[in-house]
Amino acid sequence: MLFEDLNLIEPILKALQTEGYTNPTPIQEQSIPTILTSRDLLGCAQTGTGKTAAFAIPMLQLLNKEHANTKGPKPIRALVLTPTRELAIQIEESFKAYGKNLPLRHLVIFGGVGQKSQTDALHRGVDILIATPGRLLDLMNQGFINLKDVEIFVLDEADRMLDMGFIHDVKKTIAKLPSKRQTLFFSATMPPEIQKLANTILTDPLKVEV
Ligand code: AMP
Repeated sequence: MLFEDLNLIEPILKALQTEGYTNPTPIQEQSIPTILTSRDLLGCAQTGTGKTAAFAIPMLQLLNKEHANTKGPKPIRALVLTPTRELAIQIEESFKAYGKNLPLRHLVIFGGVGQKSQTDALHRGVDILIATPGRLLDLMNQGFINLKDVEIFVLDEADRMLDMGFIHDVKKTIAKLPSKRQTLFFSATMPPEIQKLANTILTDPLKVEV
């Protein structure tokens, strides 16, 4: 299969060409068409399978479709939660690469650095926010971030969130999301607590295992 067979819009296909991608990986082939229908997804996949592009590409297409209708100050429309700074930076680079021909703005936030440049960027407006759990909650508690308009929520590496002790912060964040939203849930393994969380926050998800 080719990316051209996945009903992607030209600006995204062009960006993928620039990246040198021609064929979707198995998780991309299975996930992209489903995510484009706004259905929830439960992906069991490790890093290295192409899972970032599996969610980033269809998210960009969905958010771009509604873009023209957005009036006034722009709220955060998509949130990606990931456990580490390194993953957060990689994910932002993916959105930047695949979305380079689209007018969507993205921002990555993580702890361990000053918050000023992050809050300045939030004030300017962000469509897609990529965040680690601690800094996200911190900025939410200070009133810099409101998640009430999030249309698409990605929980990346859910099992590592548990291992690293972030699951409580993750649950607090999820409680602030609108209940009407699309949720994409990724985890390399499915320990009982993660399975329970998936059951609670997903509605009729497509299950993809690679
Ligand atoms: P990930 O599993 O998301 O961390 O991606 C692993 C690596 O594969 C990243 O360096 C991507 O740039 C690359 N990649 C993802 N999808 C494709 C694709 N369809 N063709 C070629 N490389 C890809």
